[in-house]
Amino acid sequence: MGARNARAEKYLALHQARIWIGRRVNILKPEEAFPGNVFRTFDCRHVRTSMSVSLHRSPAFNSAHYKGLATCGSVWACPVCAGKIQERRRLELEHLVQWAETQEKQAIMVTFTFPHAAFHSLADLLARQSDAFLRFRRGSPFSRLKDFIGFSGLVRSLEVTHGANGWHPHTHELWLVDPSVQADICSRLVELWERACIAAGLLDPDDTAKVQAFRMHSVDVRLNATSGDYLAKQDSSRNWGITHEVAKATSKAGKAKGVHPHEFLVRRQKGDAARYFEYLEGMKGKRQLFWSPSLKAKCGLQDFSDEVIANQEQDDADLLGRLDQDQWDFIRSKRLAAQVLDAAELGGWDLVTRYLKRLGYITRPPSELS
Ligand SMILES: [Zn+2]
Repeated sequence: MGARNARAEKYLALHQARIWIGRRVNILKPEEAFPGNVFRTFDCRHVRTSMSVSLHRSPAFNSAHYKGLATCGSVWACPVCAGKIQERRRLELEHLVQWAETQEKQAIMVTFTFPHAAFHSLADLLARQSDAFLRFRRGSPFSRLKDFIGFSGLVRSLEVTHGANGWHPHTHELWLVDPSVQADICSRLVELWERACIAAGLLDPDDTAKVQAFRMHSVDVRLNATSGDYLAKQDSSRNWGITHEVAKATSKAGKAKGVHPHEFLVRRQKGDAARYFEYLEGMKGKRQLFWSPSLKAKCGLQDFSDEVIANQEQDDADLLGRLDQDQWDFIRSKRLAAQVLDAAELGGWDLVTRYLKRLGYITRPPSELS
């Protein structure tokens, strides 16, 4: 799928999120006139934050964007902000892996999963998962292991998909370790992870079939990981899009693995709206990406919050033109925000105005504008 189609799809999904949020707030808080006060995503790329909405284009990337619109910065709730934040986080990870090489460290990729069933609530699984990680990391066995492998920091990415076996929270971690670390580290990690999952109530030690499967699949280690490996792993659960996800969801492996929750906004199956809100509720306050303290500073990266990144644009972008309130109302009512960006990239301001005219936008005479 091309980048422009993917963007259009994210904007459509965001539109669906607005519809669901509007309904939800109407039921839960009928007295609330502004659903955006309850879920900021309701206002994202919709509500103006200044008199006019300006269109900009970065010459280096030929990518257009708006200024003067609310941005929610929620990696969980908002498909548009999530995409943007993810793009930026990719660059940070690439930088980290390159830096690790200069420090003569090996990057290894470690994925942790655990068994779950369709009747488990997401909140319950997440609480047990974080309990399991606390147990896994605290205590001397893990400290000894860290010393042994020359562990010098990690980045952890929290992912949730939903499939035939219900919610599937899992983590992908990038560890910086000594170059001498070999594949046999996996069995040591499985031992510790198994103990932690049993203690957290995620694995029944008497269920021998489950325990067998757990030992085979619950920890996956890839040595000498490139940032590409890591990102590909993340993407398989995160970089959703109709063609991609549907292809996956109809294959056997895809059914088991499930879809990213933003896919709920596109496929809209029975129960998907409720699942979308269960996801938002469950992920509230959680960070999608966790970096070991001071690791960013060590490798020379500044620490920006998701909200800042969602609002950040290329500094070198040129101003193409300003959309007045009337034009912006037209664009958003016809759900053309993504298409107007396409037009801006393909033919600048001139094409944007011709495009709006072709779709029926009539420039009002100045006397009518107040
Ligand atoms: Zn947003």
